[in-house]
Amino acid sequence: MVFNSWLTERIHQIKDQNLYRELTVMTSGPAPKVTINSQNQLVFSSNNYLGLAADERIIAASRSAAKVMGIGSSGSRLTTGSNIWHQRLEEKIASFKQTEAALLFSSGYLANIGVLSSLAEKGDVILSDELNHASIIDGCRLSKAKTVIYKHVHLKDLETKLKETQKFNKRFVVTDGVFSMDGNIAPLDQIISLAKAYNAFVIVDDAHGTGVLGANGRGICEYFGVQPDVLIGTLSKALGAEGGFVAGSYILKNFLLNHARSFIFQTALPPCICAASVKAFSIIEEDKRRRESLVAKSTFIRTRLRELGYEVKGTVTPIIPIIIGGTKEALNFSKRLRQYGIFAPAIRPPTVQEGESRIRLTVTAEHSYEDINQLIEAFKLLSTNDEVTK
Ligand code: PMP
Repeated sequence: MVFNSWLTERIHQIKDQNLYRELTVMTSGPAPKVTINSQNQLVFSSNNYLGLAADERIIAASRSAAKVMGIGSSGSRLTTGSNIWHQRLEEKIASFKQTEAALLFSSGYLANIGVLSSLAEKGDVILSDELNHASIIDGCRLSKAKTVIYKHVHLKDLETKLKETQKFNKRFVVTDGVFSMDGNIAPLDQIISLAKAYNAFVIVDDAHGTGVLGANGRGICEYFGVQPDVLIGTLSKALGAEGGFVAGSYILKNFLLNHARSFIFQTALPPCICAASVKAFSIIEEDKRRRESLVAKSTFIRTRLRELGYEVKGTVTPIIPIIIGGTKEALNFSKRLRQYGIFAPAIRPPTVQEGESRIRLTVTAEHSYEDINQLIEAFKLLSTNDEVTK
């Protein structure tokens, strides 16, 4: 078999299924208004929820750390890569999340696979929500424990599965806090009560809740007033930076530091990114307005799009999925949005289930109501245009 012809054949297969993906190159920093292929576009699909990714104060914090510490950390945390900025950021995360300790990973993806593959051992079981993020799925795959999938946010099904798995050694329930493609919030208070009743541990991925949910933006735990056994997060969304973390007890930190392979064998995060993240947390702590404007804007968009007849998912989060259905139709819809100056890529399987391809809109604190009205206008024009869904 010729290597390239095998690859070409596989590419043809995904093209035939409308599942081919390609890169879109931006020529300016993260902001609502960007230029793509010389066209002005309004981005309505970024995870830069609070608009902090290009904040001058954060850039300045990052620059001054880079001047002193350099760019790369040049080693794993357990060898030569650990520095004062990792320590400061871990302390900041622990105080923000109100836990004893925190441990940084190089991404949220690596935090999820590190946690699941090290905590859940042979003879254990992981109960995982069917719509959990791919990094949780991959963490389950890497773990030697058995994985049982429960229906999406379905407490009855979770309880049935907790009852059926009593013979396993340790049991873990793992869930996204905010579901990344549906924009809904897991009923974490009830999940924790249920898990406690059946002697199971709870792991929560608060990637999309951190900085967004709760009176002070502390995330899903503040929103419900609860604390799981393990809380995972990312710095790559509302914080506008890069990197992942686990927040919990000292002993959990110590365990992961000694067992999580994606921590042990990964070069430590760049110190300038850590300095940027410390600053981002401080801004979130001081500035409520960004968070409050997000709720108002996402509610406004949801209401208007529902009035136009669109199937809109989710609740108060900045993730606003519009269900289109087929892969081809979703691609077409996204293409047409671009003609109206709106950049929001189609989300297709395997990211979402078959027949549920969608436009995953997100709104950020930086979008003005003028931007939002342009978005609504585009959807209005497309709702009356049959060509779009063909
Ligand atoms: N968990 C969820 C729910 C996510 O949406 C993502 C990112 N798409 C991740 C984890 C991974 O985080 P990171 O981008 O920091 O690797």
